[in-house]
Amino acid sequence: MFPKSKLRCIKCKKEFNSDEVIYVCRSCGSLLEVVIEPPKVSLEDMADRPLGVWRYEEFLPVEEGSEIVTLREGGTPLYRCDRLAKWAGVKRLYIKYEGANPTGSFKDRGMTLGVTKAKSLGSKAVACASTGNTSASLSAYAARAGLTCYVLLPAEKVAMGKLAQALMHGAKVISVKGNFDDALKLVMELSVKMEIYLLNSVNPWRLEGQKTLAFEVIDQLGHVPEFVAVPMGNCGNISAIWKGFREFKSAGIIDRLPRMFGVQAEGAAPVINMLRKNLETLVPLSNPETLATAIRIGNPVNWPKAVMAIKESNGLYESVSDDEIVEAQRVIATLEGIGVEPASAASVAGVKRAVSKGMLGKKDEVVCVCTGHLLKDPEEVIKVCGRPVEIPPDLLAVSKALSGK
Ligand SMILES: *Cc1c(COP(=O)(O)O)cnc(C)c1O
Ligand SMILES: [Zn+2]
Repeated sequence: MFPKSKLRCIKCKKEFNSDEVIYVCRSCGSLLEVVIEPPKVSLEDMADRPLGVWRYEEFLPVEEGSEIVTLREGGTPLYRCDRLAKWAGVKRLYIKYEGANPTGSFKDRGMTLGVTKAKSLGSKAVACASTGNTSASLSAYAARAGLTCYVLLPAEKVAMGKLAQALMHGAKVISVKGNFDDALKLVMELSVKMEIYLLNSVNPWRLEGQKTLAFEVIDQLGHVPEFVAVPMGNCGNISAIWKGFREFKSAGIIDRLPRMFGVQAEGAAPVINMLRKNLETLVPLSNPETLATAIRIGNPVNWPKAVMAIKESNGLYESVSDDEIVEAQRVIATLEGIGVEPASAASVAGVKRAVSKGMLGKKDEVVCVCTGHLLKDPEEVIKVCGRPVEIPPDLLAVSKALSGK
């Protein structure tokens, strides 16, 4: 049974019906959030269903009788990483490996819900601006649903794996000479003008799918973790995960909440800057820069929700350099066998940084959300690891090369 829902402005609290096609409050222009009645359901009630987004249907606000558009997203592994915990300097570290989703990032959790919603609203076309993974995911789910998909990518810096996905799944891919923030502004205007359903994370329905990451962590860990570290780009994911924990608490499934830990890349850290300086509002960056292209965002639309998540949870925030990101990416891959893209490694780099500042330590347990798969960005890997040595096909040359002479 799906819950009944409505939309509510996070600022002026004005409410809208769930079948309205709006992305921001019609009165004040602020973000909207989906509100559901906390369902009367326990973990045991849901335990027979496969782990994944739709296991938690009592929390997923889609119309009864909707055609569910799914590629079996979610149900990703939660790995206990003892060597990594030691490296970072905390008691326990877990990786929630979102690279294991159908298109290789957590975006699939949001798109299964968002595209299901687009279908039930009767939309024929969907669109997004993207640093890469949103487009990879949307193009796959649009194909699954039989919808037309338009994708606006920043001309600079989209990782090759993500571009390949959007192209192969048949999206109309357009390259905008500008950065992600420019592309998002364009697609928001376009969607209103051409009645195309917008599926960036300003769309509150997408976040309803993404909140299931929190549910799975509770199911897999068996208790509420102390900290949950999340890389922040447009800031939808940390907001969604926090909403998930809150809803589990409202439903009486858990009795306490974790502390959220938001991590940004140094060159693209408008939210961290705002929190450090204790500002009331975000100062956008016009030229965000980081090799973690998935979080290369200067004007994150969901910043008010992310700031609430960090403040309400008595959470932490940090920025990390590209060098720290690359080091964490390598350590996750070599010590634990888990391949993640650079943005994903920001959560783990953030934990190490927090330990060095005394904000986290030997007593603490952290779940790090690793948002996307290593293969998304093969060019970055070659850049940081180098190409393999080339040799002629003979035994002497092989043994020389292997002994490093
Ligand atoms: C989208 C994305 C992020 C950032 O998530 P937001 O919800 O925009 O904060 C981080 N890492 C990866 C791999 C992503 O695809
Ligand atoms: Zn409002």
